[in-house]
Amino acid sequence: MGAHEPYRAPMDPRWEALAAEDPEIAELIVAEERRQRDKIRLIPSENYVSSAVLAATGSVLTNKYSEGYPGRRYYEGQQFIDQIETAAIERAKSLFGAEHANVQPYSGSPCNLAVYLAFLNPGDTVMGMALPHGGHLTHGWDVSVTGKWFRPVRYGVRKDTGRIDLDEVRDVAKREQPKLIWAGGTAVPRIIDFEAFAEIAAEVGAVFATDMAHIAGLIAGGAHPSPVPHADVVTTTTHKTLRGPRGAMLLSRAEHAKSLDRAVFPGLQGGPHNHTTAAIAVALREAATPGFATYAHAVVANAKVLAEGLVARGFDLVSGGTDNHLILVDLTTKGIPGKQAAKALDRAGIELNYNTVPFDPRKPFDPSGIRLGTPAVTSRGMGTEEMGRIAGWIDEIVSAPEDESLAAATAGEIAEFCRAFPAPGILIED
Ligand SMILES: *Cc1c(COP(=O)(O)O)cnc(C)c1O
Repeated sequence: MGAHEPYRAPMDPRWEALAAEDPEIAELIVAEERRQRDKIRLIPSENYVSSAVLAATGSVLTNKYSEGYPGRRYYEGQQFIDQIETAAIERAKSLFGAEHANVQPYSGSPCNLAVYLAFLNPGDTVMGMALPHGGHLTHGWDVSVTGKWFRPVRYGVRKDTGRIDLDEVRDVAKREQPKLIWAGGTAVPRIIDFEAFAEIAAEVGAVFATDMAHIAGLIAGGAHPSPVPHADVVTTTTHKTLRGPRGAMLLSRAEHAKSLDRAVFPGLQGGPHNHTTAAIAVALREAATPGFATYAHAVVANAKVLAEGLVARGFDLVSGGTDNHLILVDLTTKGIPGKQAAKALDRAGIELNYNTVPFDPRKPFDPSGIRLGTPAVTSRGMGTEEMGRIAGWIDEIVSAPEDESLAAATAGEIAEFCRAFPAPGILIED
């Protein structure tokens, strides 16, 4: 072994087997676990899953093929897999109040593709939020298959408010007559009016889909309005605020169940990832607890305090603040590009990502903004007091991005600070 002996929970024979058989990978996993422990992780799409979710993900369910759906499989031996997938489906339906759920999509992107396959033909018009305004690639952006094989039209945010302009959404919809309209995105700090979107979709006869990947956990915990009563179909990843394994699910009205299920399998996928399905079931059970509702509300409260701390230090926030877990900062007034800021912060122990801001004059690979959020730090039990300290560190580093001794000292300080907030699933001690 190298400098660091891979530590493990005492007497975990599976970990012992990995460390013995493949010390190279074992050591890298330990290094990543240590990194996740010692840094302030602010990437808004990331989190810390529980040990229970990790255990289900690393289980023997990965050995099993089960093409089809519970009770209708193409392989034998489904006595237990059927029960696991049924539990995940029932928990998803009950948590979000949906008539139908499909928990098989491999991840958010293939999940969204299933919506196209269920409702559209190639060349049909799809309307989504423009990527530089906060939309997702799979909502019809050029480089995505959804922008190449379908005809994309787009809406964005207003320059003066940083918020979606529903009059523009309605105008574009009426002019372009999309067959599918998406709401949701990856860099949207404000609550989206799902009901208004549903009305617009109804006016033009479009299917209305909401992609709640970022906010699913907030919705589950009652800290954000739900799109489920308003949308024909709702897609989500399971690994962001929902705090489950890497995966995805579809929720829909009963009338769309058959076409969506057929789109996922056999339309797009083969065998479901049963270890992921089990971990989704575990995460959904966790998300239905009062403790998770407390967590979801704390995520939003923390984001508001972090946003206020940044505004107080002269940072320019897109839309001026946040309603959810996510903050988008335009660094133009600070005179530093997003990428330089993100890299300096990473060296100092604060992990976030550089991001395009609406109407960004800079290129996507070197844009004007940074994107950050509170799901992971809140999972560690950090609260509003800690958010003030984090805003202070961000300001110090962004003000002196080339000061390597400041970065090194801050990284040490942050690692020490993080010790007081043990993260779910992180067991490493050295
Ligand atoms: C993260 C995300 C996705 C894609 O999820 P992957 O699992 O990375 O494919 C789709 N839509 C939105 C809005 C997202 O935030």
